[in-house]
Amino acid sequence: MQTLQLADGRKIDRLGLGTWRMGEEAGQAEAEIAALRSGIEAGASLIDTAEMYANGQSERIVAQAIKPYKREDLFLVSKILPSNANEASLEKALDASLERLDTDYLDLYLLHWQSATPIQETIDLFEEMKAKGKIKGWGVSNFDLEPLKAVSQARNGDQCQTNQVLYHIGSRGVEVVLKDYMADQQMPLMAYCPLAGQDPSIRASILTHPIVEEMAADYHLKPAQLILAWLLQDDLTIAIPKSSSIQHTKENMAVQDVKLEETDLSCLNQTFPRPDSRQPLEIR
Ligand code: NAP
Repeated sequence: MQTLQLADGRKIDRLGLGTWRMGEEAGQAEAEIAALRSGIEAGASLIDTAEMYANGQSERIVAQAIKPYKREDLFLVSKILPSNANEASLEKALDASLERLDTDYLDLYLLHWQSATPIQETIDLFEEMKAKGKIKGWGVSNFDLEPLKAVSQARNGDQCQTNQVLYHIGSRGVEVVLKDYMADQQMPLMAYCPLAGQDPSIRASILTHPIVEEMAADYHLKPAQLILAWLLQDDLTIAIPKSSSIQHTKENMAVQDVKLEETDLSCLNQTFPRPDSRQPLEIR
């Protein structure tokens, strides 16, 4: 598996496993666990979840999926709700996530989106949890340029390891300023909704686009694989596609070494252009 280096020196996989909507239906649990395991068997160690997903049930699905594997071979990411990112609630929320995940520590703990709590308070608590060994590192999610700069300027703000944001070939607003700032900070960008998310109409507009279908066929790839591969052509982006299907998970993990030709990259960039000016950060 290809990796990137975090600011704290640890390595992180460029392709991981998303889990939003897992745990919502008890009848799907077996398939979700099997899909996650197929991803791990295919080389994934990074698994992304959140206390919010299915009210903690997604973390429970992850716990079951990772049971046969060594904890130190995995890289678990969970996210705290902004309403819990304060002195009164953070440690309690973290302990509950750890219990649901059946683990002693998280590899990364992210603030799910901006909180009303002053960011310094949250960062101080993240650092305290690091000192206690409950998390190895922390980061943020859904932070646009200004709040991310505020993190960087805060005490211990240089310990922020990533910003997880919506990014796919059909939604390239982050490329206008945010991604360059993160590149300057040498902070990997963790792309959520890398396959255009779970909304069928948005997905269809990209995955059934004739240029995507034709180019994917030329590379002997599926359209979803092509757009995932497009996301990994830079040296900053990590993608965390979600799939509850073994077949899809295997397809997703198979794109890690796909290199797209320059001419094909420019064709895709013309078909799905990045915006000319700054856009509000898209949030799902
Ligand atoms: P996504 O990964 O872009 O797309 C998931 C959709 O793609 C599912 O409907 C899945 O269906 C389908 N799919 C997966 N692999 C496929 C393949 N090879 N071929 C065809 N279809 C495929 O969307 P997402 O789940 O919204 O985002 C990924 C992860 O990012 C989430 O699961 C979550 O962990 C994280 N996330 C974070 C935030 C945040 O605020 N920080 C927000 C949203 C998501 P099947 O299950 O049937 O394969």
